[in-house]
Amino acid sequence: MVNKMDKISVDVVIPCYNEEETLHTLFYKLEKVEDIIEQDQKYIINFIFINDGSTDKTLEILEDKFKAKDNVKILVHERNSGFGVALKTGLLATESDLVVTIDADTNYDQLEIPKILDYMTDDFDLVTASPFHPEGQWNFPVHRFITSRTVARMYKMALGKRYGSHLSTFTSGFRVYRRKIFDDIMPTANDFLATAQLLLNACLKEYRVCEYPTVVYERKFGKSKLKTVQTIISHLKFLFRVFSTR
Ligand code: UDP
Ligand code: MG
Repeated sequence: MVNKMDKISVDVVIPCYNEEETLHTLFYKLEKVEDIIEQDQKYIINFIFINDGSTDKTLEILEDKFKAKDNVKILVHERNSGFGVALKTGLLATESDLVVTIDADTNYDQLEIPKILDYMTDDFDLVTASPFHPEGQWNFPVHRFITSRTVARMYKMALGKRYGSHLSTFTSGFRVYRRKIFDDIMPTANDFLATAQLLLNACLKEYRVCEYPTVVYERKFGKSKLKTVQTIISHLKFLFRVFSTR
């Protein structure tokens, strides 16, 4: 038997904006993850949901589902503030040594949370899911492939050989972080740029980053909240800043 004291504490951060249609799948997956983690005896798992000003029933469903659970926090933005703000609210509320971030929808399979945690050995500070890794796969719309792949190549170029040559995906929201690096890598972006900023900041501060090869799937329920043109503009502005300061 592993003593509770020997277990590593993990917080899973999940931003939610109008996700009522996908919550049933999310709950099913998270219950399975809790079962696997309990059997493995390695981790204690907590969940932090951020309701980012949803106008549908997301908040009611979350509160109803988790009212009796003491390992769940539900944080509330009265108004929709953007993915980056919701993510930062979640990250700043974490207390565990390890922090997993993942979408509420089906883009990444929450059942892989124990697998990505396995990649977080003593050798790393950040593990990022990577569909562009040679062993990964892209089952997601083609326009998102083109934009994510193009910005990934530009981020690689901006980082240069020393900092970023081992990375192939920069925009994945499915990650594990050591919480102790947050002070050094917190993003300034309030939108979807936040994931790239977190990773770039970690690389430039020479934290140890590795990729977890995975499959990204199309959303099965609800709609993507990402505004493609706005996000591309944010990436280009940020890339310009990175290039001009290095
Ligand atoms: N999200 C959020 N606030 C927003 C936009 C998105 O909290 O203003 C959440 C959303 O509910 C999801 C995650 O952030 O869990 C990523 O958003 P989405 O899945 O729509 O983006 P995509 O995966 O298509 O890039
Ligand atoms: Mg998504």
